[in-house]
Amino acid sequence: MNTIRTYQVCNIFNSSQNNWVRTKYIRRRGAQRIHVQMKFSVRDCSSIPNVPGSCKETFNLYFFESDLDKGTKLYPPWMENPWVKVDTIAADESFSQVDLGGRIMKINSEVRSFGPVSHNGFYLAFQDYGACMSLIAVRVFYRKCPHIIQNGAVFPETLSGAESTSLVAARGVCVPNGEEVDVPIKLYCNGDGEWTVPIGRCMCKAGYEAVANGTVCKACITGFFKAAQGDHKCLQCPINSRTTSEGATNCVCRNGYYRTESDPQQMPCTTVPSAPQNVISIVNETSLMLEWSPPKESGGREDVVYNIICKSCGSGRSGCTRCGDNVQFIPRQLGLTNTRVHISDLMAHTQYTFEIQAVNGVSDQSPYSPQYTSVNITTNQAGEVSRTPNSITLSWSQPDQPNGVILDYELQYYEKNQAEWNSSLTRSQTNTAVIRGLRPGTIYVFQVRARTVAGFGRFSGKILYKFKKHNGNIQQLDLTSGFPVFSCFSLCMYICCCFFCFSVEVSPGMKIYIDPFTYEDPNEAVREFAKEIDISCVKIEQVIGAGEFGEVCSGNLRQPGKREILVAIKTLKAGYTERQRRDFLSEASIMGQFDHPNIIHLEGVVTKSSPVMIITEFMENGSLDSFLRQNDGQFTVIQLVGMLRGIAAGMKYLCDMNYVHRDLAARNILVNSNLVCKVSDFGLSRFLEEDTSDPTYTSALGGKIPIRWTAPEAIQYRKFTSSSDCWSYGIVMWEVMSYGERPYWDMSNQDVINAIEQDYRLPPPMDCPSALHQLMLDCWQKDRNNRPKFSQIVSTLDKMIRNPNSLKAMTPLSSSVHLALLDRSTPDFSSFSTVDEWLDAIKMGQYKENFTSEGFTSFDVVSQMTMEDILRVGVTLAGHQKKILNSIQSMRAQMNQITSVEV
Ligand code: AMP
Repeated sequence: MNTIRTYQVCNIFNSSQNNWVRTKYIRRRGAQRIHVQMKFSVRDCSSIPNVPGSCKETFNLYFFESDLDKGTKLYPPWMENPWVKVDTIAADESFSQVDLGGRIMKINSEVRSFGPVSHNGFYLAFQDYGACMSLIAVRVFYRKCPHIIQNGAVFPETLSGAESTSLVAARGVCVPNGEEVDVPIKLYCNGDGEWTVPIGRCMCKAGYEAVANGTVCKACITGFFKAAQGDHKCLQCPINSRTTSEGATNCVCRNGYYRTESDPQQMPCTTVPSAPQNVISIVNETSLMLEWSPPKESGGREDVVYNIICKSCGSGRSGCTRCGDNVQFIPRQLGLTNTRVHISDLMAHTQYTFEIQAVNGVSDQSPYSPQYTSVNITTNQAGEVSRTPNSITLSWSQPDQPNGVILDYELQYYEKNQAEWNSSLTRSQTNTAVIRGLRPGTIYVFQVRARTVAGFGRFSGKILYKFKKHNGNIQQLDLTSGFPVFSCFSLCMYICCCFFCFSVEVSPGMKIYIDPFTYEDPNEAVREFAKEIDISCVKIEQVIGAGEFGEVCSGNLRQPGKREILVAIKTLKAGYTERQRRDFLSEASIMGQFDHPNIIHLEGVVTKSSPVMIITEFMENGSLDSFLRQNDGQFTVIQLVGMLRGIAAGMKYLCDMNYVHRDLAARNILVNSNLVCKVSDFGLSRFLEEDTSDPTYTSALGGKIPIRWTAPEAIQYRKFTSSSDCWSYGIVMWEVMSYGERPYWDMSNQDVINAIEQDYRLPPPMDCPSALHQLMLDCWQKDRNNRPKFSQIVSTLDKMIRNPNSLKAMTPLSSSVHLALLDRSTPDFSSFSTVDEWLDAIKMGQYKENFTSEGFTSFDVVSQMTMEDILRVGVTLAGHQKKILNSIQSMRAQMNQITSVEV
């Protein structure tokens, strides 16, 4: 019953109708296609009595575009031209039906659209030309696709195109922390304002997961990680790992736990296995069967294998030496997958220690040696040993398959340095023989063979015995071939000696370093490797330095029966914890295992009185870095190479002992009064995480690292080996040749890491022979396997010392295969405003006053200085003269360059 206002017309009885109604100006608002919905009613002509033939049932829709609202009563004209016709609109329904109550009105609804439109706005017009109709409502609209987040990207509101079939492309922008996958992401907006044809998609990047129906990428919470881009959720950190912040792309292993390069990120971090258990050893003469059970803890891995370390032990643990290559291991010595090994070709009646190490895929990442269980065995002695002077009694067992009745044995022996054909022969009906009249101080080779009616079998392997000159002891030296080589029989030979029988020493063989922390009680390691000194023998003289745990003093040591010597005394300050005491003394347990002229020598420790002390030989010139700085330019190249040779020889020894130093740097080399350099500083504590605030040692995951001296693989994944020590040795070479300059000058640690990664290397220091710089570059090879071994470094340096001409060539800057860091050895003098600044920069600041008083106060005069002038200003040291002259020369060269540019 509401009133409806309409525009209506019904002049059907008058012909030639042309009635218009026009909308107001309608703004386009960016639309390209306009839709018009019209609600209207039209009277059915046939329902009107006596209607003329001109009666119409349709009307026309027009539009007219304009940039301004210029509509007036006369404009746009009320005629077809200039309007654009959209369509003739016909009714679907009419109101022709009549009932008793009156007319039933039917409202028609029609939609038409037009486009493209481009002006700022438009008018619509409706033309009646003879219908009976009313226009009830007109709705004008355009279509748009709404702002949407779809497939991980945000799409802006986009208007439909000019045609109803148009598709308008819209570029999506990934939601924050999402990334496009493969192709640029797009959606198309169709004429109906609907998004269609999705192309590409965004996914949350590593460290983020999709939430809220993929409309948000949320950072993985602490303790969760996501390793790669994708739809999957953040995963909880596997066991023994953790994240350091939100949005983690991986979980780092907790201290003491590791991952191999091939371990997937979702796998728990694993650790080294515990020691193998329940070792059973069965000795059979000179062979041995070892069997054991797997370790209690596999470290969380399934790749546990076993290594057998064979040591032949003379007296006590410190007397153990590695077995030679002749010992046979079946199936093999290292990487055993089964828990059993057969070992043969051991020496007779010798004490051996076998360590069965359990290792797995992460063992080489642990700073500690693998856990092991050891067994001590003594090889059997069969047969009776007779003991007469200057003779040896040998006995052997009968062959397993004699191939007939054994008639007798033939024993052949000869002096090792004589030819075999000069050998003596002796026959024995039994499997024992006594050989007399041997010469003391001589090595003899023995072999035996059996004879049957078929003839002689093959000779046994050779066994060598040395007869010592003075006490008549004999030493078994080596088995040049093992027992299994006989076809005819196996042989065991046993020895007796002239005066007394003693356990035999293996030679050659190398002692290996034993990590004191593998001892359950580290004090035991101290007792084993360091001699206890009574405090009454020690006289402290003066403080010479500050150690990590307390003062370092010089003093005297007078031990009973020995002459007094100068010593350095490291003290452990009062109030230490048990752990500090242990760490402090660990250095002595390590040092005490070494014996080499280029390794600092431990005299002993004082642990039974306070303060606890470590006493070492005294090195008069202190640490190498400060020694070089104090004597800048004073040594010949050969002297410097001699120092480097000493350090390399010390490092070769450590490497042979299986010891990785990890902190080789000039500050850790000590120099004595004869310029002999010795490697020192075997303390481990500075690598521990909670230790010191010394900026040289930068905290890294799982320990502190002296970045500038450390090989990249050791910084990145703690791969410390003798090859990483080799890298540090290269840096020490550079420190030595530059007289204690700081490696990489004032660059930050991070800049150093980046530069190395990009293959930059330190340039040759001033006056550094190219052969030495080349050796440095070899030590700084990225691939650690390409770096030289310390034995090669020693022999290269030896060759240089023998042939000093090889040290004459200097490196032209451009010839280096590596990219050289900016060379700062010859400073750019134009960066100094005064002569004083320049002298400071070349580290000759002590002559500033002399230069001033002699009038050398400007670069013009300084650049003209001659050798006489240099002497006149009081520079008498040859090294300093050379340094100043060199710098003046480069100053002249730079001045010439500048002048020529100016000209
Ligand atoms: P360290 O704790 O080993 O770094 O020693 C601290 C400082 O004491 C060193 O930098 C040297 O100056 C000095 N020093 C250590 N050991 C000796 C030694 N055996 N002879 C002379 N000076 C030493």
